[in-house]
Order: sequence, then C-alpha cells, then structure tokens
Amino acid sequence: MFTHKKILILGMARSGYEVSKLLSEYDNDIIVVDAKEQDSMHLEDLKNRGVSFVLTSTPDDLLDESFDFVVKNPGIRKDHPCVIKARSLEIPVINEVEVAYHLLEDGVKIVAITGSNGKTTTTTMTYEILKKAGLSVHLGGNIGYPVSSLVRSAKKGDILVLEISDHQLVDTTNFKADISALLNLSQVHLDFHGDYGTYKACKKKIFNGQTGMDIAVLNGENEDVMSLAQDIQSTKLCFSSKNESDCCIHENSIFYQGEKVVALSDIKLQGIHNYENIMAMICIVKQFNVHNEVIREYLHSFGGVEHRIEFVRDVKGIHFYNDSKSTNVDSTITALSSFKNPTILLLGGLDRGHSFEPLNDYINHVKLIIAYGETKERIATWAKEQTIDCIVKDTLKEATELSFQYASSGDIVLLSPACASWDQYDSFEIRGNEFKDIVYSFE
Ligand code: ADP
Repeated sequence: MFTHKKILILGMARSGYEVSKLLSEYDNDIIVVDAKEQDSMHLEDLKNRGVSFVLTSTPDDLLDESFDFVVKNPGIRKDHPCVIKARSLEIPVINEVEVAYHLLEDGVKIVAITGSNGKTTTTTMTYEILKKAGLSVHLGGNIGYPVSSLVRSAKKGDILVLEISDHQLVDTTNFKADISALLNLSQVHLDFHGDYGTYKACKKKIFNGQTGMDIAVLNGENEDVMSLAQDIQSTKLCFSSKNESDCCIHENSIFYQGEKVVALSDIKLQGIHNYENIMAMICIVKQFNVHNEVIREYLHSFGGVEHRIEFVRDVKGIHFYNDSKSTNVDSTITALSSFKNPTILLLGGLDRGHSFEPLNDYINHVKLIIAYGETKERIATWAKEQTIDCIVKDTLKEATELSFQYASSGDIVLLSPACASWDQYDSFEIRGNEFKDIVYSFE
C-alpha cells in the first residue's frame, strides 16, 4: 500500500518527520510541506533520505493528481485548502497513525486509549505497569512519540500502548486496536469538529473494526460513553466510580471482577477522576494477567504526570499547583474539585470561544481569579457576573507574580487555565515550566 507512491506530508513537526522517515524506507517519492521553519537536523536527515521539504503557506499549489496520498498532521483542520483540494482530486487524506498501523508487523497487540480527559495519565500508568510486569511494551501516540517511530522496534507479541486523540482518529480509516478504552466524553474541541455529535462520532472510531475477540473498556458512569458504545461489537468491560461494575470501588478499595486489587489508601494519586483512570488501566492490564502486587506497588509511588495538578512548591504556607495541561473547562473543574482551601485561580489562554459558565458550581472556594492571555476580558466579564474578584493581566508571568502578593498562608495558587496555551506559548509544557520557574524564584 505504501510502496512506490507519491506522498505529500502536510505539516511536519515530530509526527511528519517520523512518518516521512518511515515511508522513505519503502521507496516512496515524498514531499513534506510546512508553513514554519523546522528543526535543521531533522531537515538534514530527511534530505539524506531523499525526502524534499518545501516551506510554504500555500501547499495546495503543490498538490496535483499525480499524488497518491496526503498524510495530514493531526493539528490541521479538515477545511484546510490543501485538504479540500485533495478531496476534490479524490486523493486519500490519512494520518501517520494510519500509515504506521499498515506497516506494523503482524501480531503486535495494540492498546488504544482515548477520552476527553485523562488520556495521558491512563496511558502512562498502563505502559509503566505492563513494563514493570516484564512485558515487551512500547509507548506512543499523542503522548509525544509518533506511532511511526515505533514501527521498526515493535515485534510480534509486543504491546503498543497508544494515547489516541480525536485529532488523530479523524483521519484513520482501518486503524484497529485489540483493546480500546474510552475514558469519558465531554464537549471539548468543538472549534475543530464543529459540533458535539461530530466529535463523538470521531471518538467512536476507537472501536473501529473490533469484534467480540477485542475489548472495549468503558466508563459506566458516563452516559455519552455508554450510549455511543451501545452498538459496538467488542466485548465490553466497564468501570464505575459509583456502582457495581467489572471494575469498581467497594469498601474503599478497587475491585476487578470481584477480586480486591488495591486499597484506596495505598494509592498516591488522589481524586475520583484519577480513580477512574486507574480503573481503566486495571481493566487493560488485567488482559495481560498482571499480578495485583505489581499494580499495588506502582500505585503506591506514582504521583501523576507533570503539568497535571502537579504540586510545585510550598512558599510561606502557600501551596502552588501547576495544572497547565488543563486546556478545557472540564479539566479545570477536576482541578478545582481537588481542593477545599481558599484558592487563587490563574485562568486564560487561547480563545476558542468556549464558555466559562460550567465552572460556576466549582468556584465557591476561589477567592480571586487572575485572568491573562487572549481570553482575559471574557473571563473578567464572566467572573464579574459570578461576583468573584478578578484581576486582568497580559501574561502568565505577571499573573503568577501577582498571585504571590495576594495569597496568604494556607491558600492554594492553582494554574489551571481552562484554555490552550497557543496564544502565547508553543505548548502547555512550556507554559507549565515557565509557571514553575517563576514559583521557584519566590523567596
Ligand atoms: P489528556 O491527555 O486527556 O489531556 P491528562 O491525563 O493529561 O489528560 O489530564 C489532563 C487534565 O485533565 C488533568 O490536569 C486533570 O485535571 C484532568 N483529568 C485527568 N483525568 C481525568 C478524568 N478521568 N476525568 C476528568 N478530568 C480528568
């Protein structure tokens, strides 16, 4: 399928680079296009492999009927002129996950984890536990290692644990996982998909091609998840934080199919949302017969992934938390629900036109909001309506410095922006690191 073809890679970054490298090994004619300058070492490497790179903001000019495929970067919208042109020329538009899937050795087991929130945490735990259990396992997908980069090393019998986002699912056609998990669904990324129905339909592709031989791990408490999965053919395994289920909480412990796996008091991560992530992980690793002891030992010490409600530092009794990964109101609700102390909330970033109203029921303990970034004025208007004090600043740096002036001993200062970082940063990691650097400079 991917040999002797002419392929346009639309958007480079890490995934475009990895898929170009992979495809170059199959004698393809490859052109990579991007509107931004790219890493010079990567460009040199691609050049040595016979791959051309074109810096252009009008890649559609390059596309004609001679191309066999367009491999689209997940961040590029479906109404991009080049995507529209490809469709009109009847050139298939796919992505690197789909390419990698076709080129994987037979017999590699795929675990695919998706959901509106909790993907990275669940994917990380699943991978690390399978590894601790001595299995041959690889980590990839949306978590930072393109699936294409794993194709060479994954051998028959190995397990790929993949975080899969809706932006990736949208351009997959045949990609099929042996075990799929849908953690939760809420109204996010509507700017990308247009409406919630389209977003849900896209998420449903995580179960594509599954039969009764495959497993679907589902959040039994999430109505949208359960109704979406109603007609799938997979063998369903449900987890629930409230009711009896395949994996559930009972007498302050997590049980899997009637057997106690771990006591909540032995788990370092806190919060119902994290128990849900843990139960999804347990449903998955139990398919590989991992012993409870391995799970227990891991959960006793795993404190979470960086930038997810991450404790930064205590300065003069003020507790600073970095939740830079919160790019939507749902994850900020999760963060706010994790604290009872008076809280100063740093909120703001890219304006996707989303409402802050869903936070209304969770801000009783918020004593001050400091808004910054593109959404700052909209946040201030909303905060005023809620009669919560709000100060507007341009940057996160100013907001963080101000929070230290206003906080008292016992307060929480929480960066949980409810917005993507791209108005002022290249990534949420850079945003979170800047916040932490500023907090570390406080005396
Ligand atoms: P994702 O990869 O889906 O963005 P992460 O594991 O990176 O998810 O967590 C992102 C944020 O979402 C965290 O900071 C946390 O506040 C929130 N979160 C994590 N798990 C859940 C969950 N199961 N339900 C709701 N919110 C969650």
